[in-house]
Amino acid sequence: MRKVNIKKIKEQLIAEREAIADKLRGKDLSVDESETPDPVDLAVRNYSKNVMLSVSENETRQLIMINEALDRIEDDEYGICQNCEKKINPKRLTALPSAMYCIECQALQEQGLLDED
Ligand SMILES: [Zn+2]
Repeated sequence: MRKVNIKKIKEQLIAEREAIADKLRGKDLSVDESETPDPVDLAVRNYSKNVMLSVSENETRQLIMINEALDRIEDDEYGICQNCEKKINPKRLTALPSAMYCIECQALQEQGLLDED
C-alpha cells in the first residue's frame, strides 16, 4: 500500500488548526459589550451570539480532532483506524487529514453503531 506523506499531512493539519483558531479569535473581537443597545438590538445580538456559540462548538470539536490527529502522528499511530486498527486509505487521509476511522468504521460511527469509550 502506498504510504501517506506524513510531513505534508502534518503541515495541512497545522494550517487547518491555525485557520480555525483565527476564526475563533475573530469572533471574540466582534462581540462588543460596551454599548447599551435597545431591546430589539439586544435580541438580535443574543441570537447571533447563540449562532456564534454553536459554530464555535463545531469548530472546537474540529480543533480537538486535529490535535488528536497530530498526537497520533507523534505516537507513530497516524493512519490507523481507531476502531478496527486497519490502515486508513491514504486517499481518505489526504481528503480528511483528521480522520480517525476507516470508511467502514466511520459509517458505523455515523449510525451510532460504534462502541465508543
Ligand atoms: Zn476501521
